[in-house]
Amino acid sequence: MLYFRGVTGDFDNWAKAGNEGWSDKEVLEFFKKSEDFKFEGDEENAGPDYHGTGGPLKVQRLQKLDLALKLAEALKEAGYKDLNDIIGPDQHGFAHLHATITNGSRCSSATAFLAGTRGRKNLHVVKNSQVTKIIIDHQSKEVKGVEFVSADGRIRSVKVRKEVIVSAGAINSPQVLMLSGIGPQHHLTDLGIETIKDLKVGENLHDHFLFLGFIYTVNKSHTIQATLSHILDDSYEYLTRRTGRFATHNGFSIGAYFKTKLEPEDSRPDMMFLILCILANDTSTVDLFTARFGLEHETGVSLKQIIRDGDVIFIAPMVSQT
Ligand SMILES: Cc1cc2nc3c(=O)[nH]c(=O)nc-3n(C[C@H](O)[C@H](O)[C@H](O)COP(=O)(O)OP(=O)(O)OC[C@H]3O[C@@H](n4cnc5c(N)ncnc54)[C@H](O)[C@@H]3O)c2cc1C
Repeated sequence: MLYFRGVTGDFDNWAKAGNEGWSDKEVLEFFKKSEDFKFEGDEENAGPDYHGTGGPLKVQRLQKLDLALKLAEALKEAGYKDLNDIIGPDQHGFAHLHATITNGSRCSSATAFLAGTRGRKNLHVVKNSQVTKIIIDHQSKEVKGVEFVSADGRIRSVKVRKEVIVSAGAINSPQVLMLSGIGPQHHLTDLGIETIKDLKVGENLHDHFLFLGFIYTVNKSHTIQATLSHILDDSYEYLTRRTGRFATHNGFSIGAYFKTKLEPEDSRPDMMFLILCILANDTSTVDLFTARFGLEHETGVSLKQIIRDGDVIFIAPMVSQT
């Protein structure tokens, strides 16, 4: 739900690599077009040069938790610049984050971009199906269609008139291309796939490591306790007004980009901090966190033990350029 875009400079590099239309300036127009940013009358954002209104994806500032406000003071003291908005002309610093939320609920990609297309005659969504390859004419190298296995196990295909957009994610997009004959020839030959185009598909995969080991407990009195009575109050507030703790993201509230001393000639930030505040007794967030990040069961149990004694802050450094 956290609303991020690639850092300025990433897209320009894509454009420089020969991808027409992908420069920072060009993609910015599409980010703005897709966004319905809640300005809320505050000046603490990058403004209309960087944010758009009226688009399908709802974006708003996350509630600033007391603990996050204290952390912001600490970050300033440590010399980090308060950017107010992680999206904007300068991305070296920290900001309270924005998220894709509307009226107290997640605005998922499906809610934003699919819900409004119901009933369109030129859109057909096939669920529970797996693409097995893009059909390409070997002679002309033109894309002719897409082959997939549908929910009933049958192999089907659709013809295309104009284009195929491959959007199967960072791992499966290269896989689909390779299954279609586009990839490193030696690898395709090993797998018995006829090569249509010998390309280094999949060789540019970068992992952006996230380290979850910096955990700090707050030894002052709790900011808010997730006791049963608080949970009931929060539930009442959420159900009646769609506001309060349940109407916001339960955790990550500050993001910070910074530049390490590696590759000084590259001005883009290469590291990121995600700062997560979990309130005392909020064991449900620990459960969610343990599951989402694939932590060991014992780690979850230890975290729950720690969280019973007070609020906890995670500072998660992440490599954003490799
Ligand atoms: C735990 C976690 C938290 C994250 N939090 C945030 C966040 O807060 N903010 C943020 O901006 N980003 C976040 N990200 C990153 C973000 O989720 C990804 O960058 C984004 O989802 C990539 O979108 P995509 O459409 O390229 O691919 P995906 O979202 O991976 O979509 C690819 C889709 O293709 C389908 N697919 C794959 N192969 C096939 C096939 N052969 N046939 C048919 N369908 C196929 C997959 O099932 C999937 O639905 C997070 C990622 C993780 C893992």
